[in-house]
Amino acid sequence: MAVDLNYLNFYFSTHSKPEVQVINIPEIKEKGVSWLVLRDDLNDILMSGNKRRKLKYNLLEAAGKNFDTLLTFGGAYSNHIYAVAAAARHFGFKSVGIIRGEILDPLNPTLHFAKESGMHLLSLTRKDYNNRNSAILIDEWAEKFGPFYMIPDGGTNLAALQGTSELAQCIDENVDYITCCCGTGGTLSGLISGLNGRAKILGFPVLKGGDFLKGIIFDLLGNYQKNVPENWQLISDYHFGGYARYRPELIRFMNDFYRQTSIPTDPVYTGKMFYGVYQMILSGYFKKGSRVLSIHSGGLQGLDGFKQRHGRLLEY
Ligand SMILES: *Cc1c(COP(=O)(O)O)cnc(C)c1O
Repeated sequence: MAVDLNYLNFYFSTHSKPEVQVINIPEIKEKGVSWLVLRDDLNDILMSGNKRRKLKYNLLEAAGKNFDTLLTFGGAYSNHIYAVAAAARHFGFKSVGIIRGEILDPLNPTLHFAKESGMHLLSLTRKDYNNRNSAILIDEWAEKFGPFYMIPDGGTNLAALQGTSELAQCIDENVDYITCCCGTGGTLSGLISGLNGRAKILGFPVLKGGDFLKGIIFDLLGNYQKNVPENWQLISDYHFGGYARYRPELIRFMNDFYRQTSIPTDPVYTGKMFYGVYQMILSGYFKKGSRVLSIHSGGLQGLDGFKQRHGRLLEY
């Protein structure tokens, strides 16, 4: 079955602007800061949050070039793997997910969904995974699966930047700061590009030692456009020990935040960023009168796997 490019175009053209939610937490108000959340997590049920934006131009390009198979990479709990599997099924692509590390049986909720959606799952040892762009592996997959459109880890490439740059169209003129969390930096890079010098953009790496992302973001943006704007900064203090690591105070914050705002966050990505922004507001980082907009980039599917591993730490 061929993928219908007209339908793909139609699907993405029906995207409405995500709503902006005002945070009403007394301690925040006392600081004289307006904290707003762009609920991009509510924009789509197939591809959550930033994954929809990062996949948009990748899917259009794949279909436009008549590929019928998508091949991509990710960890066992990856929001990206989940989104590609869902999108592939919906739009009629075949899909292959190359998973870092062992695929445990029974499958965790993320991989279970991917498999149910028809994704072919293949595991690589961590060592092979680090060589995943080698010609030997790529030839092997081509022999096994036929021609495929390859989407890198986390979906980050130049087509992804085009999609995430469209986030800027959802952000009002009168915002002083914009915050988002960073894995590969694709979302932050697109935002920087789309905002084109407007506001100050703060990225919160969820990996330890997140400053290494600075060079990656410079390279990504440099390949995407001529000039790299300077109105952005990484806040690397809120990784909680590294990717997918957390501490009790993070979980406590996520529960409190949910109780006060009805906004669910996850401990891998958005929980860390919201925690960080909250602490920064309380500590006076933002001047009185500042308007701070945080982007909720979705990713809530990962909560099922988290609950399976850690019981009912979360109240939602
Ligand atoms: C994948 C993901 C990110 C990371 O985005 P990058 O573009 O890789 O930096 C952030 N938030 C959520 C919820 C995600 O699923």
